[in-house]
Amino acid sequence: MVSNIHTHTHYCDGGKPPRDYVLAAIESKLTSLGFSVHAPVPFDCNWAIPQNRLNEYFEEISNLKAEFKPQIEIYVGAEIDYFPDIVGYTNNLIKSYPFDYFIGSLHFIDKYEDCRRWTIDGPHEEFKKGFSEVFGNDAIMVTRKFFEYSRKMIQDLNPPVIGHLDKLKMQYRPDCFIPEDHPVFKEELLKTLEVISLTECIVEINTRGIYKKRGDTFYPGAWAFHEMSKLGIKVMVNSDAHLPHELVNEFDNAFSALRIAGIKEHYILKGNQFIPVPITN
Ligand SMILES: [Zn+2]
Ligand SMILES: [Zn+2]
Repeated sequence: MVSNIHTHTHYCDGGKPPRDYVLAAIESKLTSLGFSVHAPVPFDCNWAIPQNRLNEYFEEISNLKAEFKPQIEIYVGAEIDYFPDIVGYTNNLIKSYPFDYFIGSLHFIDKYEDCRRWTIDGPHEEFKKGFSEVFGNDAIMVTRKFFEYSRKMIQDLNPPVIGHLDKLKMQYRPDCFIPEDHPVFKEELLKTLEVISLTECIVEINTRGIYKKRGDTFYPGAWAFHEMSKLGIKVMVNSDAHLPHELVNEFDNAFSALRIAGIKEHYILKGNQFIPVPITN
């Protein structure tokens, strides 16, 4: 049994309407499919759904849920950003809408002098701008801050699933930033895994970086799977699909890497709950 609950449609920065993902998920024999629109944020952001479209989003996914019930379980969720300075806004958003689940993810850290927020998830040129202007090109400081915010997010939002735990590494170039095997990067990721191990939070193994060719590792990288295995951390595999044909990209490789690391089960959303399923391949 396999599911994918990290998907983006044309309601945010994905490329197709939700129905196309449902049809592709049935074709791929997924047990369940979750829609995780980028939740609204209280500033200009061209990849998040505007708040005034959320009702339409819920209505469309609810209709698909009913229509395809005999074939596949469909869930309506969101990928929610974390900002330490507006936790009230975010918690209110989570409480105000009937999300079946949400994924907590970090895409921004800190602000420019003019108060615009700096994203670590945009084009490399944009990363370089904030890296220089906000952090004076201090890779260690950025790394520590990114993971510190990830740990704060776990505490403040208590997300059922944490998305692309070390996505920051996609900005590494030989002449910019640090790679995932840098001692500080590893230390911070491990510290974050330890915090996660004390919670019920599921760590997503996100395959998007590989099939988008932003690197050759998952978020988080396979080296961390051994540590996750030791810490007894729950995992689930998602592709962060922005198009229907990306729904199960790199899933087989993710499951083999998990199995090799000694992780025997992954979690899927089924019957409105996250349940463990043996990894068989
Ligand atoms: Zn994301
Ligand atoms: Zn996403």
